[in-house]
Amino acid sequence: MSTHFDAIVIGTGQAAPALASRLSGAGRRVAVVERKLFGGTCVNTGCIPTKTLVASAAAAQAVRRASEFGVTAGEPAVDMKAVKARKDKISGASREGVEKTVRGLANGTVYTGHARFESPREVRVGDEVLTADQVFINVGGRATTHDIEGLDLVPYWTNSSMMGVDFVPPHLVIVGGSYVGLEFAQMYRRFGSTVTVVEMSKRLIAREDEDVSAEIRSILEREGIAVRTGAKCIALERGPSGVRVQVDCDDEPKFVDGTHLLLAVGRRPNTDDLGLDRAGVATDERGYIRVDDQLRTNVDGIWALGDCNGRGAFTHTAYNDFEIVAANLLDGDPRKVSDRIEAYALYIDPPLGRCGMTEAAAKKTGRRILVAKRPMSRISRAVEKGETQGFMKIVVDAESKQILGAAILGVGGDEIIHTVLDVMYAKAPYTVIQRAMHIHPTVSEYLPTLMGELREA
Ligand SMILES: Cc1cc2nc3c(=O)[nH]c(=O)nc-3n(C[C@H](O)[C@H](O)[C@H](O)COP(=O)(O)OP(=O)(O)OC[C@H]3O[C@@H](n4cnc5c(N)ncnc54)[C@H](O)[C@@H]3O)c2cc1C
Repeated sequence: MSTHFDAIVIGTGQAAPALASRLSGAGRRVAVVERKLFGGTCVNTGCIPTKTLVASAAAAQAVRRASEFGVTAGEPAVDMKAVKARKDKISGASREGVEKTVRGLANGTVYTGHARFESPREVRVGDEVLTADQVFINVGGRATTHDIEGLDLVPYWTNSSMMGVDFVPPHLVIVGGSYVGLEFAQMYRRFGSTVTVVEMSKRLIAREDEDVSAEIRSILEREGIAVRTGAKCIALERGPSGVRVQVDCDDEPKFVDGTHLLLAVGRRPNTDDLGLDRAGVATDERGYIRVDDQLRTNVDGIWALGDCNGRGAFTHTAYNDFEIVAANLLDGDPRKVSDRIEAYALYIDPPLGRCGMTEAAAKKTGRRILVAKRPMSRISRAVEKGETQGFMKIVVDAESKQILGAAILGVGGDEIIHTVLDVMYAKAPYTVIQRAMHIHPTVSEYLPTLMGELREA
């Protein structure tokens, strides 16, 4: 026995619930399948809980720094059970919201269980077989642990299991100095842990420009986080205080002893147990589903959205995937992935807002570029706020005068970057920002000033 639908949506990450709503609203009968937690990574183990924890960590830091502002406070007492309860409440409300939305769809049916293709048009969930003319895959990804030597010898956390932690680990060692690892590093340092970050590359978040990477390292080190880069051979074993991480770094010593370990070494798509071979859906060598510019897989009637297609690794890219598919299927609007401009933030404090190309990537294209950079210490609002770490940097094409990219590492950087991003979408020259009158006193008021400081690089 099988049940037929117009569409099957697998997973309830950041694309599927919105897509299911649109399809249902258009009168299509939709099956929504979720095997675990409604809302997926962002809601349960990613963006929402981590940013909630980042906010608690910022509160602790504000107390710690209070005397700089003439306010008497002292060392904060962090109640990790309360911190976790706040995080669980906010993340839980979001999860319930997603579940309520999909269960409330006029033309939707929710199945809980693991979905697996039987053929291009058949998906099995437990004992039931669902059939549909269109299948949308939004299965996301999970933390990978790679084949680190000694992995079976020590207990470790990933970003998912870390969500259950309700105490301050005395010494947290984090393997992985990229986006996920650095957010956890700073928040746990602020909660009171000793923190060591171990990174294989020569520098933290190596895909960013060297100056961005170096400034981020300084920000973290100023808070007392130990950073070990160039850790060529990482191996794990039990140590005197719990866990010992062999680092074989460029500098001494050759190991780090800690009490607890977080592995933040990357993610992999949830495509290995989806029966993609039975549907004939092609993946790349890392398991990401191959899609075209409108997110169609190689099999007619099957689309892949979100992290599992390897075209983005963020909530906004997954949601944008939904918009592209919905526009194409329901609005007759041929939107495509290549229309979007890369943009993201790193939520350390102060945050890094990024859009477009790095300076290094822009130089590699061989075009003539203009660059301007201003430290936050020369931005009055940042000084008034006592937030002088970081800088703003803008990269412009000298010929077209269009902005190629920007990095705003500093207070409000995650918000301010959108001014630059929108001008990039408008394909307008940088002079539009240069001639705009911005509000005083804000960090953004220096964007026009920055445009006036562009020099050949
Ligand atoms: C620690 C951390 C912090 C992050 N912070 C940010 C941030 O600040 N900003 C940002 O933009 N992004 C952030 N991300 C990334 C963001 O969480 C993801 O890009 C986002 O969740 C998009 O994922 P998705 O829609 O592809 O799928 P997911 O959210 O991963 O959801 C996939 C869903 O599919 C389900 N599923 C999988 N396989 C099956 C199956 N076979 N059958 C049925 N159901 C299945 C899963 O249970 C899951 O619910 C963060 C990620 C992590 C790990």
